Amino acid sequence: MVLGLLLARAGVPVTVLEKHGDFLRDFRGDTVHPSTLAILDEIGLRERFDGLPQRRVDHLAGLVAGREQQIVDFRGLAPYDYLALVPQWDFLDMLADAGRKLPTFDLRMQHAATGLIEDGGRTVGVRVKSPEGDYELRADLVAACDGRHSTLREAAGLRARDYGAPMDVLWFRMPRSESDPQDTFGIVDHGHMMVLLNRTAYWQVAFLVPKGSDAALRTRSVEVLRESVAQLAPFLADRRGAIEAWDKVSTLSVRVDRLERWHQPGLLLIGDAAHAMSPIGGVGINLAIQDAVAAANALAQPLLGADTIDESVLASIQQRREWPVKVVQRVQIAMQQRLISRVLEQSGRPPRVPGLLRFLLGFRAVRHIPARLFGYGLRQEHVRTPAAPPSA
Ligand SMILES: Cc1cc2nc3c(=O)[nH]c(=O)nc-3n(C[C@H](O)[C@H](O)[C@H](O)COP(=O)(O)OP(=O)(O)OC[C@H]3O[C@@H](n4cnc5c(N)ncnc54)[C@H](O)[C@@H]3O)c2cc1C
Repeated sequence: MVLGLLLARAGVPVTVLEKHGDFLRDFRGDTVHPSTLAILDEIGLRERFDGLPQRRVDHLAGLVAGREQQIVDFRGLAPYDYLALVPQWDFLDMLADAGRKLPTFDLRMQHAATGLIEDGGRTVGVRVKSPEGDYELRADLVAACDGRHSTLREAAGLRARDYGAPMDVLWFRMPRSESDPQDTFGIVDHGHMMVLLNRTAYWQVAFLVPKGSDAALRTRSVEVLRESVAQLAPFLADRRGAIEAWDKVSTLSVRVDRLERWHQPGLLLIGDAAHAMSPIGGVGINLAIQDAVAAANALAQPLLGADTIDESVLASIQQRREWPVKVVQRVQIAMQQRLISRVLEQSGRPPRVPGLLRFLLGFRAVRHIPARLFGYGLRQEHVRTPAAPPSA
């Protein structure tokens, strides 16, 4: 959506295909980090964004075996010293509305890309399935931004390096009450781990389970999950019946991988389609947006010209974005191996934050390190595309 918006804003005709009929689903996460807040400022959408329902979080803590541990601190990191928790559907609706005001932006909901059209070794369009029937859409460039189960990655036959993930996430809601903690925080104890996202009226719960264990878990009574939640967060015990049945609980499958090549002649992949991100750090949305900004900066001028896009332009986008993505993925993989695997394997044994780490995390300057890495990223992108004249 961001790539489409930036290109259309520069005057490039863009068609955005979205296979669903709306954005009302939960699978993406809610975190809008400082790097994205900066982009919104740069394209004049910040005021509208600030008007969306949201919570601002300026620090993140964990409850490890009953002991509070401050981990990330945005305070003092001006000019964006917080991350915003915004429902994805509101954020995407806002971007879609901004796009619809541009004469060259064409958003087609319920239109799914099902395959690539090739001609002479070059991608020249996509096949589309829509309620009105199937059709072919020709384009100077196809940008595959279709997420971690990318159809177009598969269609292109591009090779990915799979780093694996030890966990999947059970995703469900619990009611909030006035006396509950205000913060968004993680809890690690009793061989379980969960993150509670404060969405004002309710808690969005992300409960981690060992990879692939979901099917077996679902053959048991949902009481097993209720018990674990109540054990981890005793203040939720009185409401555990809110998890009525397994069908109220979605399973989000976690994967971490990265393509060796993010492009072919006529085709570019960005976001999770190029590099599926773990939920750790809540950073995948923001990295996908940084990719989109870098891609728009490189592509707007060539696309406005009459020439076909040279593959070296696509290669330069991968070159620019690959290493910041790689570093974040390495940190995510290390945390998956050193923290999450151990917690999920050691049922019952209370985890411990090593003394030295606990000491270091006592300093705000140390807590700024993860805030900078995840909040701003290692290579912050800025919008360099021009703004097209407003439509009549
Ligand atoms: C459990 C879990 C929790 C997460 N939590 C967070 C978080 O809190 N914060 C964060 O920043 N990241 C989080 N992530 C990572 C984040 O979801 C991704 O990194 C991010 O959504 C990638 O953005 P994207 O635009 O590349 O893909 P997506 O957000 O997946 O968007 C892809 C879009 O393409 C559409 N689509 C798919 N196939 C087609 C097709 N064939 N034709 C047309 N449209 C299609 C989809 O409907 C979707 O709208 C989480 C990941 C997991 C697994």
